[in-house]
Amino acid sequence: MPRQRVDVEMLDLFKTELELCKVRKGEVVVVLSGGEDQPEYAQAFMLAAQSLGATTFHINVPKYGQGKVAGLQGRHALTGIQLAIDTLKRADMVIDLLGLLFSKEQAEIQEAGARILRVMEPFHILKKMFPTEDLRRRTELSRKLLQSASKMRITSPGGTDVTYGLKQYPVISEYGYTDEPGRWDHFPSGFAFTQATDGDVNGTVVLMPGDILCAFKRYIQSPVTLTVKDGFIVDIQGEGTDALLIKNYIDSFGDPRGWAIAHIGWGSNERAQWHHIAASQQLSEEHIMNALSFYGNVLFSTGPNVELGGTNDTPCHLDIPLRGCSLWLDDIHILDKGEFAYKELRAPGR
Ligand code: FE
Repeated sequence: MPRQRVDVEMLDLFKTELELCKVRKGEVVVVLSGGEDQPEYAQAFMLAAQSLGATTFHINVPKYGQGKVAGLQGRHALTGIQLAIDTLKRADMVIDLLGLLFSKEQAEIQEAGARILRVMEPFHILKKMFPTEDLRRRTELSRKLLQSASKMRITSPGGTDVTYGLKQYPVISEYGYTDEPGRWDHFPSGFAFTQATDGDVNGTVVLMPGDILCAFKRYIQSPVTLTVKDGFIVDIQGEGTDALLIKNYIDSFGDPRGWAIAHIGWGSNERAQWHHIAASQQLSEEHIMNALSFYGNVLFSTGPNVELGGTNDTPCHLDIPLRGCSLWLDDIHILDKGEFAYKELRAPGR
């Protein structure tokens, strides 16, 4: 993809984004980036912050080559550069173009009070999925509903019937901007999720054609039946390639913890598109925020739970957004075959 230029459109969009984040005069906004990645985002965010009266600068670190392990969760090119970490801790807001996710450095920066905005999608996706205050309202309501529930049941016409015991873990909401000290978010997004109490997931999950295997940026083509017992997948059945792919992929890590059930929740961004993976001409440049966020999906996943404070840090992670599911929290009906049954969770006009 040709490099994007900073132009009026990008500057306007980033300024609106920083306004949602309540960036104001007297604040310090620091952009963090690695190597030559997205220099135009770094410049445009600085100009946008400046136009709102904030002080701003850019910390750029070599992406590789300082003895750091790249591409592993919780390890990144900032590891060990204490001076840079200390500087970020003193910022009001950090624009993270590098990817600190899951790291102890990120936790440290958040604890110090800096809010962090992760940005990684190409510009056309930032524009298309741009957050709204109503998306925030619905995503925060999703978080509150998840927080007060003790049981989640998911069913589908394809045969899914699975129950999650809740309460042990916190709930995370992502709606695409952040205006609270110490809060992390990802621009753009639109979902809330938690994790079952250790060992407390039981039942059957049937992956149906059209559900998305995010790790492969591919739609399920043939039904796959996962049997789940005490928080782990214990059996995979299916006639087609998908059952084989999933089994082979998880097996390849040689890690029994890769069979664990991970975070669970639902998507609420009506601007995110389920069909995006099929329609995009530049998938290799993109991430999976459309797939994770599309309106009414049940975001099922397997593998690690460190993001929510658990101890499973297996690198084997599958996000699998499911279509057309029904979902209950205790006795509250949240989703009915992929549509929100809970009125206050519906997007305007839906
Ligand atoms: Fe995930």
